[in-house]
Amino acid sequence: QPVVAVVGRPNVGKSTLVNRIIGRRQAVVEDVPGVTRDRVPYDAQWNGRAFTVVDTGGWEPDAKDRAAAIAAQAETAVVTADVVLFVVDAMVGSTDVDEAAVKMLRRSAKPVILVANKADNTSIEMEAVSLWSLGLGEPFPVSALHGRGSGDLLDAILAALPEAPAIVENRPRGPRRVALVGRPNVGKSSLLNRFSGEERAVVDSVAGTTVDPVDSLVEIGGQTWQLVDTAGLRKRVGKASGTEYYASLRTAGAIEAAEVAVVLLDSSEPISEQDQRILSMVTESGRALVIAFNKWDLVDADRRYYLDKEIDRELRRIPWAIRLNLSAMTGRAVDKLAPALNKALASWETRVPTAHLNQWLTALVQATPHPVRGGRAPRILFATQAGVAPPRFVLFTTGPLDAGYQRFVERKLREEFGYEGSPIEISVRPRK
Ligand code: GDP
Repeated sequence: QPVVAVVGRPNVGKSTLVNRIIGRRQAVVEDVPGVTRDRVPYDAQWNGRAFTVVDTGGWEPDAKDRAAAIAAQAETAVVTADVVLFVVDAMVGSTDVDEAAVKMLRRSAKPVILVANKADNTSIEMEAVSLWSLGLGEPFPVSALHGRGSGDLLDAILAALPEAPAIVENRPRGPRRVALVGRPNVGKSSLLNRFSGEERAVVDSVAGTTVDPVDSLVEIGGQTWQLVDTAGLRKRVGKASGTEYYASLRTAGAIEAAEVAVVLLDSSEPISEQDQRILSMVTESGRALVIAFNKWDLVDADRRYYLDKEIDRELRRIPWAIRLNLSAMTGRAVDKLAPALNKALASWETRVPTAHLNQWLTALVQATPHPVRGGRAPRILFATQAGVAPPRFVLFTTGPLDAGYQRFVERKLREEFGYEGSPIEISVRPRK
C-alpha cells in the first residue's frame, strides 16, 4: 500500500488535514510546538484507491533549532513515503523555518504536493498563488477544517501515487487452485483416487472460469477445487519419462499455478533431500502450504519416535506449515484435508488494518527494543502491510535491522496474527 507523508510546521493544520483525508474525526493530538507526536499511520481511501497517510508528527521536545527539526521531519517523509504533502499556512506563506525543508524536498525525487491550508475563502485562495515561488509546483489551496478544495487535493494525491499493482484480492470467482506434489511413490495418485469418485470432467467447468486441460475439478470435503496438473499425476510422469529433471519442472509448474500446495510425504520413510527440495519450491514460491504425512497406517511407535526427531530437524524452517497425518489407503484423516486447505488460504489472504498493526508493533518495540549495536539501536518507525497472498509487510526503520531481531519480529507477528499455513514476507526500508 502506498504511503503519503504529511510534513509542515506546527500549527499549519496537519492533523486537521489528516482527519480530512481519512474522512473521519479522530482525536488527533493538537499541533502544539514542543509536543512530540508519534508517526501514526492511518488507512485512507479515495475513488477506490487505498493508501496510508502518515502524520510525520510534531517536533522533538528538545529541538532548539526549529529549521533543523523540520528538515529532519521532511527527510524522514521523503525516505519513507511515496508522496509527500508539504503543508503551509496560506495566510502566512512560507517562513524561513520552512527553507531547509523546501530545499530538501525540491532535491528529492519523490513527488511533493504543496498544500496551502486554511484557505477558507476565495481571497485567501488567491493569495496561495504566490506560493508558486517555492519551486514545489502548483499550490493546492485547501481548507482542511471546512473541506474546501480537499477533493482536488485527493485527486492530485491519487495522480501522484505509483501505479496500482495488480489487484490480487479481487481474484476471479471460482474454485481454489491446489497443487498436489511429492516425490514418486509417496501416494499422490492414491490420494487423488480417494476423490476421483466425485471428480468431474474438465469441460464441466464452473461458469466464468477456464480450467487448464491438464487440471481437473475435484470435490474435496463438499467443496470444488481445481487440482492443477492432474494429468501429470495420472500419467505417472516419473515412470513414463524417467527423468527427475522433467518431473521437477512439472512440480515447479504446478506449484506456480496453484494458490495452495499439498506436499505429500511418505511417513514410513525418512524425510529425504528430494522432499526438502519440493518443500523449498513451495516456500520460495510464496504459496500456502499443507504438509500431508501419508501412509500413516504404516507408522508404529518406533517409527513415530524417529519421525518426530526428523520433523524437528528437517522442518524447523517451516513451523508454520499445517501438518496432517493421513492415509490414502485407509482413508484416515482424509476429511481433514479440506479444512486444512481453507485455513491455509485464509491465512494467506489475511490483511491486518494498519492501525492495529502499528498498535501491536509499538507495544512490541517498547517491550523489546532492538539491541544496541556499536552504540546505536535502529528504531522501527512504523509498518504497513504491502500486500496479501502471501501477507507482505514493510518496516520503516532508522537503520538496517539485525537478522535475529527481524526473525524475532516475524515470530511475534505470527504469534499475534496467526498465519497458520502461510508464509509471510517482511522487508525493511531503512532511512538512508
Ligand atoms: P505416487 O507416485 O505419488 O502417485 O504414488 P502412488 O499413489 O502410486 O502410491 C505408491 C505406492 O504407495 C502404491 O503401491 C500405493 O498403494 C502405496 N500407498 C499409497 N498411499 C498409501 C497409504 O496411505 N498407505 C499405504 N500403506 N500405502 C500407500
